[in-house]
Amino acid sequence: MTTVLGCIADDFTGATDLAGLLARSGFPVRLRIGVPDGPPKDTAPFEVIALKIRTAPVAEAVDEARQALDWLREAGAEQFFWKYCSTFDSRPVGNIGPVAEAIMEAVGARQTIYCPAFPENGRTIFMGHLFVDRQPLDESPMKDHPLTPMRDSSLLRLLAPQVQGEVGLVDRFTVARGARAVRAALDDLAGKGVAHVIADAVADEDLRVIAVACRDMRVITGGSAVAMPLPELLRASGKLGARAEVAERDDIGAPAIVLSGSCSAMTRAQVAAYAATAPSYRLDPVALGENGAGEALDWLSQQALDAAPLIYATAEPEAVKAAQDKLGVGMAGAVVEAALAELAVAARDRGTRRFVVAGGETSGAVTQALGVTRLDIGQEIAPGVPWTFCESGGHPIALALKSGNFGRETFLADALATLGAA
Ligand code: ADP
Repeated sequence: MTTVLGCIADDFTGATDLAGLLARSGFPVRLRIGVPDGPPKDTAPFEVIALKIRTAPVAEAVDEARQALDWLREAGAEQFFWKYCSTFDSRPVGNIGPVAEAIMEAVGARQTIYCPAFPENGRTIFMGHLFVDRQPLDESPMKDHPLTPMRDSSLLRLLAPQVQGEVGLVDRFTVARGARAVRAALDDLAGKGVAHVIADAVADEDLRVIAVACRDMRVITGGSAVAMPLPELLRASGKLGARAEVAERDDIGAPAIVLSGSCSAMTRAQVAAYAATAPSYRLDPVALGENGAGEALDWLSQQALDAAPLIYATAEPEAVKAAQDKLGVGMAGAVVEAALAELAVAARDRGTRRFVVAGGETSGAVTQALGVTRLDIGQEIAPGVPWTFCESGGHPIALALKSGNFGRETFLADALATLGAA
């Protein structure tokens, strides 16, 4: 099927989050890990390309995004969505703005919006300030993120150094007046040459208003939630055919494993809850740096296949900092990612077929190691986290890829139960 909406995500869990929300529409959604080799084939109306460029050097990130864009255009897409985290995770010299600018330039778009709001998950934007539940971003647990600590809540200030020209705002009062008011505000800003516009949203209804106002924009950027109304809008405009049934998957073996490299506050609670009910093993980055993953691999080899064990590097901010002081930030992350990736492959080779992975970067490392390049989107476990189905090493497997703060405290057990009940 011709692709209607082409999406580029800056990390793997962001891509599954977006794909999951688009799949709520009932239309087929396909996720590609990295820019696919060769020309598009077997495409879906909604294609999401997962990159791993959140913390990559700007030139590299832009280059990869351009390649993804070329592939999506070849697949037929005429509208594009650039997906980043609902907590606007980026570095001061970040990639959100430069990638948006590169996509806009390539397709000739003169304006785009930035709307990372995800009200269902407690991410809202008011007067350009991003909130996580009741806290401004810079007071939320995101201030201690290992790779992208967020120390400001103003999206205008965060985006300004990443783009050419001024950053504008369509505030909540305008959004509350409806799609026409938002369209008029955007046109007004466009008339003043403002190409980059933050859009306030505190509820799903706001996102719908924004999506309607931006339905003809060639490039839309944001978290996943603002993309949610797009399938319905595209269907109403006649660009999409009939819905297809999402195929049931009952061919996935039962053995499962939970791997966590996320240190986000919610993951810490989820890991603690799950560790109380299943065999678990904690990875220490400093020990991994010295001795590799051998001890953890031995531990895994002794676990019963049906025990759904947990292996985690998840730790409190002080412990993360101690490891980073010893190894350096990049190396601490890299040894953990490499170990979890190696453990995932070992688990698969022993017969594990269901993988629950916590952490955006971690999920990227694990899927790459498993050699996964294409996933079909299945049922949602929690808002923004679907089960996905793919092949690894010649076997059908299921992956649930969860970014840091998503899901309730019982998410890890819920994920396994959801697939069992499918
Ligand atoms: P999230 O989705 O919560 O942001 P990520 O996997 O994207 O999670 O990022 C967490 C990063 O922290 C990864 O690079 C991971 O390897 C690293 N990490 C995990 N545990 C530790 C630890 N104990 N010390 C230092 N870094 C860690």
